[in-house]
Amino acid sequence: MEIETPLAELSWIPRPRVTALRRLNIETAADLITHYPRRHEDRREFPDFPREETLGPICLCGEVVKTRLMRFGGRKIFEAVLEEHSAHALSQPLTCRWFNLHYVQKMIATGQRLVIFGRPKLRGQRLVVVHPEFEVIENDDEISIHFRRITPIYPATEGVSQRVLRSLIFRVLNEVDTDSIAVELPESLAEKRPEALHQIHFPESVEQLAMIRDHLVLAEFFRMQMQIASERARNSARVAHHRSKQGLLLPRFLSLVPFALTRAQRRVLDEIELDLAARAPMNRLLQGDVGSGKTVVAIAAMLRAVEAGAQAALMAPTQILAEQHYMVLRRWLDPLAVRVSLRTGARHEESFLPLMDGDDVPQIVVGTHALLYESVQFSKLGLAVIDEQHKFGVSQRAKLTSREPAPDVLVMTATPIPRTLTMTIYGDLDVSVIDEMPAGRGEIQTRALAEAQLAEAIAFIRRELGSGQQAYVVYPLIDESEKLDVKAAAQEFERWQERLRPFRSELLHGRIAAAEKQAIMQRFRSGETQALISTTVIEVGVDVSNATVMLIENAERFGLSQLHQLRGRIGRGARTSHCLLLSSDKSPDTIAKLSVLERTTNGFEIAEADWQLRGPGDLLGTAQSGLAEFKLGDLKRDAPLMRRARAVALSLLEADPELERPENQRFRSLIVERQGQTFSQVS
Ligand code: ADP
Ligand code: MG
Repeated sequence: MEIETPLAELSWIPRPRVTALRRLNIETAADLITHYPRRHEDRREFPDFPREETLGPICLCGEVVKTRLMRFGGRKIFEAVLEEHSAHALSQPLTCRWFNLHYVQKMIATGQRLVIFGRPKLRGQRLVVVHPEFEVIENDDEISIHFRRITPIYPATEGVSQRVLRSLIFRVLNEVDTDSIAVELPESLAEKRPEALHQIHFPESVEQLAMIRDHLVLAEFFRMQMQIASERARNSARVAHHRSKQGLLLPRFLSLVPFALTRAQRRVLDEIELDLAARAPMNRLLQGDVGSGKTVVAIAAMLRAVEAGAQAALMAPTQILAEQHYMVLRRWLDPLAVRVSLRTGARHEESFLPLMDGDDVPQIVVGTHALLYESVQFSKLGLAVIDEQHKFGVSQRAKLTSREPAPDVLVMTATPIPRTLTMTIYGDLDVSVIDEMPAGRGEIQTRALAEAQLAEAIAFIRRELGSGQQAYVVYPLIDESEKLDVKAAAQEFERWQERLRPFRSELLHGRIAAAEKQAIMQRFRSGETQALISTTVIEVGVDVSNATVMLIENAERFGLSQLHQLRGRIGRGARTSHCLLLSSDKSPDTIAKLSVLERTTNGFEIAEADWQLRGPGDLLGTAQSGLAEFKLGDLKRDAPLMRRARAVALSLLEADPELERPENQRFRSLIVERQGQTFSQVS
């Protein structure tokens, strides 16, 4: 049988099964055998029945000695009592219990042998397993596939039981030549090719399973890293638009800003300057915690582009942030006679002027993603800076990088992410890190408060406002894209206005008209209003150093990294700032989560914790849309494998960018096959 044979062509698979499999995106023999087990159960020998609760789920085998069906109100409870097959005097029976599951009672009868997987808990005198996974041993022929072995358990699937999947996979594995889908790995990653794919399904030992799993994970990671590495190789083969030329602008700018760069800022700027001097376009990620001072570095880089006679663009994810950048740039660059212009969706109509050559052509353009669509109009885009990259999709970056001639690209993010993730989603970028805060920053003290402590929190905010400080109140509307109930927001606002009177509050959210938003921010910056009652529109970038208090309502609804971002709006001056996390949720998860923020202000630590708690998806926001799905690999568990795969892929393509050497021919398909796809998934 060919590996690409459609299952529909195999007469021994019943039609309804083919249809059910199709729902799982399993259409061919190859799809079927790469439908990897979710876990394995060691059914070679079953342990004795436990006599007390176990810490986790276990796999047991027993004989059904009694079943009964009970009704409690509307609930149906089905019970099956199991005894150990070769019961010895000491073992006590185990009760399996299912609620409202009709099919279970139809499947289980006295006298059968069952294999169950679940966690026994003590209920009164009895050990009970609620809703165990189970399989009925129908006859001893089945033993070779389903029992007496390390048995694969597949991702749950509707209409196809474990048993069916296992039998299908077993048979297909025997009939196809699995060699043809074994992924080639260089010797440095795998000394020898593992024998066959069937070991991932039906391993003979735990060691063998671990080995084949590592091999397949490496294969997945290597494929991805080869694509990333070839992306990098392609980029370094391009010729950048920039003409390296160092003028006086940058030194003059640096003497103008009212502070000296930190060591970290200087180091990063050096790294960027090296990139700009190289022939290939820059493709660099700048990571730095909230408030570490990325903007100044970006401006410095943009001035290099301007000195070389090119244009620079600075793209921010929100209009508020774009406007803030615009103001900062005007303040610092007007004295240097650098022409800066602002382009946001809101300003579109008034400023839709083609950016052509001429005396009044802006040298630096600041804007939102509207820039992406206007970017065709840049006549000589030398450098594109993307601020708060994690708020954009990977495809949006691709829009900028793929321009010809190639602009230098600097992407910045304040969401520090674990290294394995960086080398996955930002794998094609060089990375610079600002790991130092400017001196003289006040500390941010964070406290989690129960809803009942609201009055206390209000009193605290009023005291701070009384001493001339300003405050943010972030109310629970997680996302601006979530449908905003304007009326609820207005009510919430009125309540806060009352609470904080006579101090002046204003309401800010994404649906407010652009010009008004701008006016509201302006009044807050100037201190005319003391409190901003806001949604997460202020999450990124907003920089008002006199604001020293932030209260976040329903803090449990936000992710750790997001809370850390929000909190980064305060602590920007020299004074101690206070972040109050209000939550009525007393679950251990929430308490654990919020306590991370009480404990540390280190963004990397927080990102790690966030990852542990929620997984990479939430951590990355939009950026994850470009993240490949792995069938087997787990970025957290398999981090060391990812590092190895990356190192090997990079050095392989560095030595042989076009994969021309005979021994590398076998890797060509890895990068040719999916070329262009890696980074073009639309978010
Ligand atoms: P982020 O990295 O979060 O984007 P910003 O670039 O907005 O941070 O910088 C935060 C604040 O710190 C700004 O007001 C900026 O002017 C100030 N800042 C930046 N670098 C320094 C420095 N080296 N010393 C003192 N203040 C600095
Ligand atoms: Mg910033």
